[in-house]
Amino acid sequence: MAQASLRFYGALNYFLSPRQREQTITHHFDWRASVKDMIESIGPPHTEIDLIVANGESIGFDTIVKDGDAIAVYADSDEAEIEPKQRLIPKVNGAPRFILDTHLGRLASYLRMLGYDTLYRNDYPDDELAQVSHDEKRILLTRDLGVLKRAIVEYGYYVRTTQPRQRLSEIHARYDLATFAKPYTRCMSCNGLLRDVAKSDIIAQLPEQVAASYDVFRQCLDCGKLYWKGSHTSRMQALLDDVLGL
Ligand SMILES: [Zn+2]
Repeated sequence: MAQASLRFYGALNYFLSPRQREQTITHHFDWRASVKDMIESIGPPHTEIDLIVANGESIGFDTIVKDGDAIAVYADSDEAEIEPKQRLIPKVNGAPRFILDTHLGRLASYLRMLGYDTLYRNDYPDDELAQVSHDEKRILLTRDLGVLKRAIVEYGYYVRTTQPRQRLSEIHARYDLATFAKPYTRCMSCNGLLRDVAKSDIIAQLPEQVAASYDVFRQCLDCGKLYWKGSHTSRMQALLDDVLGL
């Protein structure tokens, strides 16, 4: 049986069993496999791999693994001291746009609060998540490794943490959310854009106490939801200060 040795670096160790982490793994195989399929059978999804080095050379996902290959796999290509490098994670130009799986509703609201175009439904089937991510070049954030391993998914990330604030912090660490943030410009419920509205135009829709206390309002162009600066926004602002330093 043929064998290859594989070593995973950085954040990719998260996807390995404890005894495989930070170790050179000997992998036996007796069928023709691309390096992408071999890596994904061990654990990490291709969407988090930026560089693969086989026998000292940077290779692509479709390269067929040969008997005796020594393969190093990096989440961050800057950690490898070789040239030239074939970077495997495609660049995102401008503000990243997202699509989130059904487990990440609160994170979706936070990303929208920051102004990021974020698709979320609590009933997206995997096929649709993968297809929309591919067609619209949206970063797929998910807690489902299987969907990230689908070949059509180019941009994706497995969310490790479980608390919504930690998740926001985790996504900020990966995608630098402060750079393109436009807080309070997008509806947290439906992802629609907000516009300023005059109080006199919407006063009939306001609870009495809100009408008496607030003067500045925004309304979602898509679903009509009204937003005003109240205790809700100060809690949100505290979260943004805390997590993003905005
Ligand atoms: Zn809306």
